Amino acid sequence: MIVLLMLTALLPAGAQVIDHVDPPSWFTGMKDGSLQLMVHGKEIGSYAVTTDYPGIEVKTMVRTENPNYLFVYLDITGKALPGTATLTFTRGKQKITHEYQLFERPGGPARGFNSSDVIYLLMPDRFANGSTSNDNVEGMTEQLNRANPGGRHGGDLKGITDNLDYLHSLGVTGIWLNPFLENNQHHSSYHGYSTTDFYKSDPRYGSNEEFRNLVAEAHKRGMKVVMDMIFNHIGSFHWWMKDLPSNDWIHQFDEFTRTNYRASTYMDPYASEKDKMLMEKGWFDITMPDLNQSNPLVETYLIQTSLWWIAFSDLDGIRMDTYPYPQPDMMARWAKRVEEEFPGFFIVGEVWYDDPSHASYWALNKVNPDGYRSNLPSLTDLPLCFATHRAFEGKLNPTDAMSRLYNLLSQDFLYPEPFRNVIFLDNHDMTRFFTQTGSSLDIYKMGLAFIMTTRGIPQLYYGTEIIMEGDKSKGDGRLRDDFPGGWPGDGKSVFTGTGLTDPEKDALDYTRLILNWRKTKDVIHTGKLKHYIPADGIYVYFRYSNDESVMVVLNNNEKESRTIHGENYAESIEGFKEGTDIISGRKIEDLGSFTIAPKTAMIIELK
Ligand code: CA
Repeated sequence: MIVLLMLTALLPAGAQVIDHVDPPSWFTGMKDGSLQLMVHGKEIGSYAVTTDYPGIEVKTMVRTENPNYLFVYLDITGKALPGTATLTFTRGKQKITHEYQLFERPGGPARGFNSSDVIYLLMPDRFANGSTSNDNVEGMTEQLNRANPGGRHGGDLKGITDNLDYLHSLGVTGIWLNPFLENNQHHSSYHGYSTTDFYKSDPRYGSNEEFRNLVAEAHKRGMKVVMDMIFNHIGSFHWWMKDLPSNDWIHQFDEFTRTNYRASTYMDPYASEKDKMLMEKGWFDITMPDLNQSNPLVETYLIQTSLWWIAFSDLDGIRMDTYPYPQPDMMARWAKRVEEEFPGFFIVGEVWYDDPSHASYWALNKVNPDGYRSNLPSLTDLPLCFATHRAFEGKLNPTDAMSRLYNLLSQDFLYPEPFRNVIFLDNHDMTRFFTQTGSSLDIYKMGLAFIMTTRGIPQLYYGTEIIMEGDKSKGDGRLRDDFPGGWPGDGKSVFTGTGLTDPEKDALDYTRLILNWRKTKDVIHTGKLKHYIPADGIYVYFRYSNDESVMVVLNNNEKESRTIHGENYAESIEGFKEGTDIISGRKIEDLGSFTIAPKTAMIIELK
């Protein structure tokens, strides 16, 4: 008896044995009260768990071939109240306790995203350094090195929170952060796509609580937050890699085996089994072990991470990285589970294809020949992004160039709900639109006018508003340059307007004007789209509803003005006499005939 007491006294909170319990906490009031706990600690698999917390029932325990893991299945019933549950782990006469927190899940429906939104994508390491005290953190391998484009530059969550007013005044309604979870990798950890702990913000960005505060501050301003998640892979320095929960936790090969990145193998009727296998199971990179989502323990673990972050931070959306790379049926079950728990919650999946035929396979409510349904609320419209590059990069004659946009949109019948697509000119993985299209302010303005008025949910990559350059051939780090003004001592600041060149100021004013106009324009949010075959270097389309109509004209000719003849668009102009170009403020007295300058966009509100 004395021995037992001493043992109990020696192991008061289980800290000596248990080093991880994931999820670290959970929530009362969930529609589905089942919970899988992953417990990691020396020989924890030989213990059994009990709790006498009211409303919690231990359903079952699952063990793998690794004795250092125990999977505990709890049922958190409707009777469970927020509080601290004591979990007691028993092995013979040995007892360990672990205090487990239950919080109340946030109430209210999910805020969601739709075409009324504009999402600002930013990379936390590169936007603003709100606190230099976290630039170097003990225990983190990679330390600050701003001189290295692929190194850590010191940006953080506080930097984002401190500058929400800037983003609000820019006219965006949501922000999507590239991943901020712990990436304790030896190099290139700044981009965040090599998770080393699913439940912990990287301390160089700040704490979980700081992220929750960022979301709360965004909500105060009427803005929403999208979190970037990666289910396909982890970082090679994830703590699992030192002691894998099971051999089949990740896909393992005799030697390093890379994915073929050929995401068309899923819908290709002629794809070989070998190619399909490599697509799903090959590693994305040598530092990114590929998770086996076909293992139900992995599946539940991943699904719970998303539910935890939604409930913990009152999140508004998830952007799922490399969406076609994990096991597709598991991903469909995941999207369904999120929708059931948080109806209306927004998820956008990154599907990287040139063609809508491939991309639309993953679209919500798409009827695929093989019966696959992704349940994915939204997807990244890369085909449209590539079409904007081809339309504006100056390699085609002006009419063929505009036809790229027209032809791409003509394939929207492939998407049951194309207005859900997230659309963009560029993102963190490609040459910036401004650079791609010849560093012309005029072309930037046309591209932005297009992406903000066509169908879909626009996403704007940070720095676009001041026409930042970024060339992929110089390395990915250079696509993610520091945002001017985000660092103490920056001579140039977008936040204050200090030191900006005239073209940068011009681009910023233009972006602000269009975004803030768009914000209040119902016809752009919910109106229909009608477009006309490009001719003579001109592309004309209308966004219209019963109440309103907006005419967008793009003149892609290099040097020549053009006269627009209203009779060519009679079915859209009928009933309207005049209009105002919201960009120039110019009043169009006669819609029957008016001119447009070369390389110019007009967004005309019809009256
Ligand atoms: Ca910092």
